[in-house]
Amino acid sequence: MLNKQTMILSTILLLFFGFCFTSYSSYKIAAEITKEEVKHKSLPLSSDNIYSEIQRDLIKPNLISSFMSNDTFLKNWIIDGEKNINNIKDYLEMIEKKYQASISFLVSEKTKAYYYSKGILKYVSASNERDIWFYRVKASHSDYESNIDLSLANNDALTIFTNFKIIDKNGNFLGVTGVGLETNHVANLLKQYKKKYKHDIYFVNSKYEVVLSSNDKEKIKVSKIAKLKEIIDNASLGNKEFYEYVFEDENYYLNIRYIDELDLFLFVETKEKDFLKKLNENLFSEILIAFSVVVVILIFTYFYFFTYQKNLEEFAKIDKLISLYNRNIFDIEFVKLIEKNNKFSIILLDIDDFKFINDTYGHKIGDEILIIVSKILKATLRKDDFIARWGGEEFIILLNETSNDNLFKIADNIRVVIKENKQIRNIIKKELTVSVSIATLKDNETKDEFFIRVDKTLYKAKNKGKNRVEISE
Ligand code: GH3
Ligand code: MG
Ligand code: MG
Repeated sequence: MLNKQTMILSTILLLFFGFCFTSYSSYKIAAEITKEEVKHKSLPLSSDNIYSEIQRDLIKPNLISSFMSNDTFLKNWIIDGEKNINNIKDYLEMIEKKYQASISFLVSEKTKAYYYSKGILKYVSASNERDIWFYRVKASHSDYESNIDLSLANNDALTIFTNFKIIDKNGNFLGVTGVGLETNHVANLLKQYKKKYKHDIYFVNSKYEVVLSSNDKEKIKVSKIAKLKEIIDNASLGNKEFYEYVFEDENYYLNIRYIDELDLFLFVETKEKDFLKKLNENLFSEILIAFSVVVVILIFTYFYFFTYQKNLEEFAKIDKLISLYNRNIFDIEFVKLIEKNNKFSIILLDIDDFKFINDTYGHKIGDEILIIVSKILKATLRKDDFIARWGGEEFIILLNETSNDNLFKIADNIRVVIKENKQIRNIIKKELTVSVSIATLKDNETKDEFFIRVDKTLYKAKNKGKNRVEISE
C-alpha cells in the first residue's frame, strides 16, 4: 500500500502536471491560431493596405505628369529650341504650386538640360548613375515609369517620381517630364504599422537594396540583407507570398508582394517572439498560479492529514469509557521499554467482586465505579507513571524501577484510597476493595514469563482473601 507521503506527493505532482499540461495545450492551440492569423490575415492585410495607399499615391503624380507630357506649350517650347528659359521656369513653378509637388521637371533629349522651377538644375549624362532613369525611360516601351527615389533637389526626401515621355506628332522622343511628390504619407503609414502591429515593412529593389523601411535603414544588417536576397530570389521564382525564416535565432514571418509599378518588393514581416509575447506571458502566469495553488493545496493537505492522523492515533490509544490508555498502547509501551533494556516495575490491580456490583446496581453504576477508580489512580500516581486499562475491571501501572518496599507502599496506598473513597461508598453502600499484584522485571525475563508471574501473584492475592497487595518474587 502507498504510504501517506507518497500519496500526497503523487496527488500534488498529478495536479501540478495536470495544470501545466492543460495550460500548455491551450497555449499551443492559441499559438497555432495566432500564427495562422498572422500568416493569413494580419500580414496580408497590412500588405494590402500599404499597397493600396501606394496605388493612391501614384495616381496623382501620374495624372499630372501625363497632362504635362501632352501639353502643346511644352512640346512647342522644346521644338522651338528651348529659347526663353523663364517661360519654362514659370510653367514648372505653376505646376509645383498648383499640385504641391516637391518638384516638377523637364529633361530635354536634345540639350540634356534638366529644367525645374528655378532654371537648369544640371545636365543629365549616361555616365552618371543618378541619371540612368532618363535613359531607362527613353528606352522603355511604356509611356511612363514611376519610382521611389531620393530627390537631390529636395534634401534627399523620399519622393515618388512619375516620368512621362514627350513625343512629337511624328513619334520622335523629345524628352521626359513629370513631377515628384513626397511620400511622407507612406513613410508615416509604415511607422504606424510598426507601432500598432509590430510589423516591419521594407521596400526592396531588384538590386536587393532596402529603399524604404519602417526600421532605420542603417540598422538593417548586411547579414539580414543577404537573407533578404535569398528570399527575393526565391520570390521571383514562384508566386509564393508567405515565408517563414530563421535569422539570428529568431523566427520571422514574412509576406512578400511585388509592386510592378515601382519595380519594388514590399516586405511585411513580424517576429514570432513579438506576436507570441502576450501568450507567453499568459502561459507563464498560468503556470505560476498553478504552482501557487498546488503549494496551498500541499500545505492544507499536509496539515489536514497530519493533524487528523495524529488525532486518530491519539484516539485509538484511549479507552473511551474511562479516558485511560488501553491495553494495545500499553503493550507497545511495554515492548519499547524491554527493547531499550529499561528496568521497570508494574502494579496490576483487579477490583474485587465487581460482577456483584454490576449484578446488584446495574451496568451503568458499574461503569461509574470504573470511572471513579481511574480518576483515583490518576490523582494518586505520579505524572511519569503510565496507567492503562488492562481488561474489564483491571488496571495496570508502569513505573520506573522501584524497590519492593516502595512499590508495596505505592500499591497499598492506592488500595486504601479506593477503599476509603466516600463517593464509591455512597453509591454501592459499602467499601470497594481491590487485589493488587506488584512485580519488577528481572534480567533476561521475557514479556510472557513476566506476565505469567504477575498473573499468578494476582491469583494468589485473590486466594488469600482479596483486598491486599501481593509481591511477585
Ligand atoms: P473477582 O473478585 O474474582 O475479581 O470477581 P469479579 O466479579 O470482579 O471478576 P469477574 O472476572 O468474574 O467479573 C468481572 C466483571 O466485570 C464481569 C464483567 O461484566 C464486568 N465488566 C467488565 N468490563 C466492564 C465494563 O466496562 N463496565 C461494567 N459495568 N462492567 C464490566
Ligand atoms: Mg478480573
Ligand atoms: Mg475482579
